[in-house]
Amino acid sequence: GAMMDITQRKTFEESLQKLNERLDIRAKELALSNAELEQFAFVASHDLQEPLRMVTSFLSQLDRKYTELLDDKGRQYIHFAVDGAKRMRHIILDLLEFSRVGRQEITGENVDLNNLMEEVISLHRTVIEERNAKIHFEMLPPVFSQRAPLLQVFQNIIGNALKYTHADVIPEIAISFTESIDEWTIAIRDNGIGIDEEYFEKIFVIFQRLHAKDEYEGTGMGLAIVKKIIENLGGHIWVESKESQGSTFFFTISKANKI
Ligand code: ADP
Repeated sequence: GAMMDITQRKTFEESLQKLNERLDIRAKELALSNAELEQFAFVASHDLQEPLRMVTSFLSQLDRKYTELLDDKGRQYIHFAVDGAKRMRHIILDLLEFSRVGRQEITGENVDLNNLMEEVISLHRTVIEERNAKIHFEMLPPVFSQRAPLLQVFQNIIGNALKYTHADVIPEIAISFTESIDEWTIAIRDNGIGIDEEYFEKIFVIFQRLHAKDEYEGTGMGLAIVKKIIENLGGHIWVESKESQGSTFFFTISKANKI
């Protein structure tokens, strides 16, 4: 009986080791293809900027010098083309931003989230005043992380909370947190248009949007950048929402000083 047990265990151990080796290879392959993809996004977005600048600059020359010779339709075509070029510029810059996340050397620092929130509010001042929006936050904890990427995360999520609103409702946004042994969980709640459960994962994927560009402006990159930053800092992000009743975005910030 004992002999049998040992043989079985040996075969089991061997197959486990084989599986581990296969997983190891697969992980390396994935890391490589991920790096290649990022390299592609970086090169494409970087190299596309120059020809786009040329298109934009000649369109504006056309508009300046020949506007008298054109009829209304001609001027409208130029207007559409300039609009398209502007949109493309936004997409390229966002793509560049996305591929840059995590490229820099990571050094941790003490970040005061209250002071960071003041900065986010001042960055969105115009919309906040226009919509008479209310932003509430309790004393937020000091965290050991990276300020610039975290600022981008808060700015993006709060920017969305100010954008995806009911036109006739005063936007209200509340930032709160909970604490566990090894991480902080930040919650950013809004009273906006909400998201159908079907899209809870999709909204974090690049270029995924739920609206036409004339309904709400955007490139569909914001939350993809946010997700990448959070995961890069060792956390995770998710959303809870009821359509038309508002959304809450949650993300974690690790307490471990390993950054
Ligand atoms: P963008 O705002 O440029 O479209 P994002 O990646 O920031 O791109 O968001 C992706 C999609 O998620 C948006 O198009 C929108 O449909 C949805 N979304 C994001 N934030 C909210 C929110 N606070 N309330 C409702 N929908 C949201």
